[in-house]
Formats: sequence, structure tokens, C-alpha cells
Amino acid sequence: MRAIVPEIRTVAKLSLLTRLMHHRLFPAAFQWSVLVMLLFTAYAALFTAPSPDRNFALVFVWIFWGTVAPISVWLFGRFWCAMCPFHMLGDFLNKIVGPKRPIPRWLRQYGFWIALVLFIVIVWFEHAVNIFQSTTLTLLLLVPVLLGTVIGAVIYRNEEFWCHALCPMLPIARNYSTMSILEVRASTMECEGCTSKGCYRGDDSITGCPVGLYLRNLDSMQECIGCGRCFKVCPTPGTLTLRFRHFMDEFRRIRLPRMDAAVFASIWPGALAIHYFTLVPTGDRMVKGWMQMLGTSSYLAMWTLLYFGSIAVSLLMVGGASFVSAQITDESLKQRFVRYAYAFIPLAVGIHTAFNMPRFFGPQGLNRAVHNFFDIFGYSFSGLVMVLGLDSTRVLMNGLLAAGLIGSLVALKRIATSHTNERGFFSALPEAVCMVLFTVIIGSVFRILY
Ligand code: SF4
Ligand code: SF4
Repeated sequence: MRAIVPEIRTVAKLSLLTRLMHHRLFPAAFQWSVLVMLLFTAYAALFTAPSPDRNFALVFVWIFWGTVAPISVWLFGRFWCAMCPFHMLGDFLNKIVGPKRPIPRWLRQYGFWIALVLFIVIVWFEHAVNIFQSTTLTLLLLVPVLLGTVIGAVIYRNEEFWCHALCPMLPIARNYSTMSILEVRASTMECEGCTSKGCYRGDDSITGCPVGLYLRNLDSMQECIGCGRCFKVCPTPGTLTLRFRHFMDEFRRIRLPRMDAAVFASIWPGALAIHYFTLVPTGDRMVKGWMQMLGTSSYLAMWTLLYFGSIAVSLLMVGGASFVSAQITDESLKQRFVRYAYAFIPLAVGIHTAFNMPRFFGPQGLNRAVHNFFDIFGYSFSGLVMVLGLDSTRVLMNGLLAAGLIGSLVALKRIATSHTNERGFFSALPEAVCMVLFTVIIGSVFRILY
């Protein structure tokens, strides 16, 4: 009896999710809602309160969206990409201008490296110009994205050019979605005899998968943007399902690990730590103290040194752990690193989410976003909205950090045991020690800052 009840519950959820993917208003209804929100935010940035604390756009973009978007990706996968207004614009332009050529092979192969460099440079740039306090710069950040989308849509198939190769959000989107609890899956039996390959090629009325996935072989959610197109074009009803999967199941079956994703997984904990450290007043004061000690007045030079220094340390820690493990398993350093660096993704997710908690639940987070929103319409009230006390926030942060560590250890075990050549979990001990070290360092940073 105990085994039957969860089964029934799961089936009910499956059919509902799958029906959503078939719905003619999906994802258009979400895309239009997000577009309206984006236009409203742009209006708020340009025409409402000039003070950064009182401006809805700045609080909404950097604190609310900056917290919710990454959580939505590691929890539910890249559905955000299907709702992204830029994706929608590109799709629209593609339809107007007609059929397009595919992106060049080199871009397909190396696009992610460009996206990775763009992302790292953007995070550096945000601090260098203190973008979090400027509505103009925040809006200007959208201009290159708009240009990339338009160029991609006019010359190439937009989703391939921008959404699949160059968007700076790709490193986060791909790596975090490895942990997603939702997955799109095809029934192998139905796909066996399928000659249309509609999910990949499309048909007369609808194009195929925008990111070039062939559903019969799909066993990862790193590329799928959850647009639902394959559900609508597949000629065999019931073949495709959107369903829940075991948390972090994907780490068992990363068949072709990518060096670009592994590099991002190993540098991101360091980049995250210094990014948030300098955002908190205590950290900012400490950085200014270090500047005095070093006799420099250039914040830009100090920030550049700290940022790229943290990235290098992070890469060296993961690379060093891979080096030691490779000696145990007789693998090459490259083989070891590219496969095992993926296990650091849950820890990075834990660090990222934990650092966002005091910003989101503090008085200047969700609370300020709601107050600023009502201010635009001339309403004001004095109550606090979902503000957490410092003690509760500390517990939450440490809990998320611990969950990230446990997640990474689980991922490590899954990667280690999914390869027949392994000498068991023992061979992954250096990576496990490295994860614990990261956790201790970040935990100490929490104690200094909060
Ligand atoms: S998902 Fe549908 S269209 Fe794609 S291979 Fe399977 S049966 Fe064919
Ligand atoms: S497999 Fe492709 S078409 Fe299907 S939901 Fe994912 S991105 Fe869209």
C-alpha cells in the first residue's frame, strides 16, 4: 500500500506537467507576462525615484530577480530561457525574415567559451562600475543582449546564435540545470519506429527543437530550454513527458563531460565568494582597509586583483584535487578534471543561494521591492514584508551551505560509481577534501560578514 500511494500521486503530476507543454498558450503566455514585467521595470528605471534604494527597477533586478532566477534554474531547469523576452524577440524576427542558415561550426564548438568569458567579464564589470546603484548602466547592460538577439535572428537561427551559443547566462543555465528536478523524456519504444524525427526536424507548421536536440537520445537537461515545441510537433501522442526525476540524478549519466562546463564549475565558487564579499558593507570596509595597507587608491585595481585572484585560487584548488586523484586512478589530469569538476556544481549553488538570502530577506530586499512597487502608484505602508532576523538568516545560510556540500558529495559519489574504471569512492577523496575546504572558507566568510 505504501508503494502504491506515491505512484498514484506521481502519475497525476506527470500528466498535468505534460499537458502544460502541449498547451497552445505555452510558453507564449509566460513570455508576454515577462515582457510586460521587463517594460514596466524599464519604465521604473527611467521615470521613477532616482535614489537607488527607492527605485523599484534596481531592487527588482539585482536583488529579487538575481535571487529567484538562479533558484528557478537549479530547481526546475532552463524554463526561464523559454520565457526570456529576448528569446521571444529573436523567434519573432526569425519568422518575419524567413529561414536562416545554421551558425558556423566554430561557434557551435567554442560558443560556450565565449559565453563563459563574457559572463566572467560582466560580473567583474558590474562591480567595477557599481552597476547596482545605476539605473542607466543597468538598462545599458541590456543593449548588447538586444544586439546579439537581433543579429542572431536576422543572419542565423536566433536560438542557435544567441540562446545556444553566446548568451552570457549560459554557464549558469547549463551547469545549474544539471540539478533540476524536472526532465523531458521520450519513450524509447515509440521513437524506435519513428521516421519523421519531428522533434528534431519540425514539420510544415512548426520548427523542430530550437537547440537541436533529438529527443530519442535525450538524457540531460543541460541544453533543453523547456519550450514545449517537441511536444507539439511529435506525431505520436503520449511519447513525450515532462516529469519529476530524482534530485541530482543526472550526475550518474554525464556521458560527454565538457571542459568549458568543468572550468566554470571550478572557478564559480571563488568568483561568487569575492562577488558577495565586496557587496556587503563589512566586506567593502575590509577591502578599503586592504587598499590603505597596500598604499593604493584605485578600487578598480584592487577589485580586479581580488576577483581574478579568487578565480585563480578556486581553479587551483579543484585542479589540485583532480591532480592528486589522477595519481590514484592513473587517469590523465584532463580526464579527471573534466569529469569530476561537475561535482562542485551543487556546492556553488549552495554558496550562491546562501549569499543571496540576507540580500533577499533583509529590509533592502523583497521588502524594499514591494514598498518601491507600491510607491510608483502613490501607495505607501509601514509594515515589513517577509523580513528575516539576523539569527534566522544565519541559520538559513549555513543550512544552504551544508546542503550544497552534501549535494556535492552525493554528486561526487554518483560520478565515481558511474564509471567502471574507478577504484570506488576512495579515489574521489581529494575532491571531497577540497569541497570541505571550500565550505569551511565560505562558512568563515559568513561569520566575518554577518
Ligand atoms: S520524440 Fe516523437 S518525433 Fe522525436 S523521435 Fe520520438 S516519436 Fe519521433
Ligand atoms: S527538447 Fe528542445 S523542443 Fe523539446 S522542450 Fe527541450 S528545447 Fe524545447
